[in-house]
Amino acid sequence: MSPLGGDERAAAEAARGFMPSAEGLALAEAATSVDPAIGPFLEVGSYCGKSACYLGPVAKRHRTLLFCVDHHRGSEENQQGWEWHEPDLVDPEVGKMDTLPTFRKTVHDAGLEGVVTAVVGDSPAIATVWATPLSFLFIDGGHGTEPARMDYEGWAPKVAVGGLFAIHDVFPDPADGGRPPYEQIYQPAMASGLFDEVSATGSLRVLRRR
Ligand code: SAH
Ligand code: MG
Repeated sequence: MSPLGGDERAAAEAARGFMPSAEGLALAEAATSVDPAIGPFLEVGSYCGKSACYLGPVAKRHRTLLFCVDHHRGSEENQQGWEWHEPDLVDPEVGKMDTLPTFRKTVHDAGLEGVVTAVVGDSPAIATVWATPLSFLFIDGGHGTEPARMDYEGWAPKVAVGGLFAIHDVFPDPADGGRPPYEQIYQPAMASGLFDEVSATGSLRVLRRR
């Protein structure tokens, strides 16, 4: 059975961003299985709100919140001259990327205001002061070596025992994509002895905190 209703799935698939449908549905399915009594959901890296459209409806049914951490200035690979740049997302007055207006519109149109809660700022800085244990953590932020390492170090300890930890863009074979999510997040998580892998869908890995 699909973890999302027809309208929810259509909204997620129509949203702008970087989340293939099969992986988004796997994300939603994993989130459906957690016990929301242990804490809220949090994602690192929201961009225009696509993955939030997969996780948000599940958070809503669980009567919890999905916190979406992003500075909305884009990752290195989203900047002008890089592979994943979208020029219409640059704020011409500021001269920087700004995905927050699109994110807000996406969340509004998906009927997820009140559930999907933007936390606008620098991920490692927010992790430093974040105290609430999480039932579901999804990391899809900066994909450079240092950003990926800092997201792992900052956020992995926030996953409550029994909670799930999902990681995007994990490519064990270098021919398929960049190394940092695999080397700086997935491998250290598995080596820590604190997580068991529960599913793999495309480049998505879902781990459970022991
Ligand atoms: N999950 C999204 C894609 C995220 S793209 C989707 O489904 O489409 C990666 C995002 O990480 C970008 O929006 C970028 O702004 C954000 N990001 C990168 N480094 C960050 C940092 N240090 N703090 C906060 N957000 C960051
Ligand atoms: Mg991604």
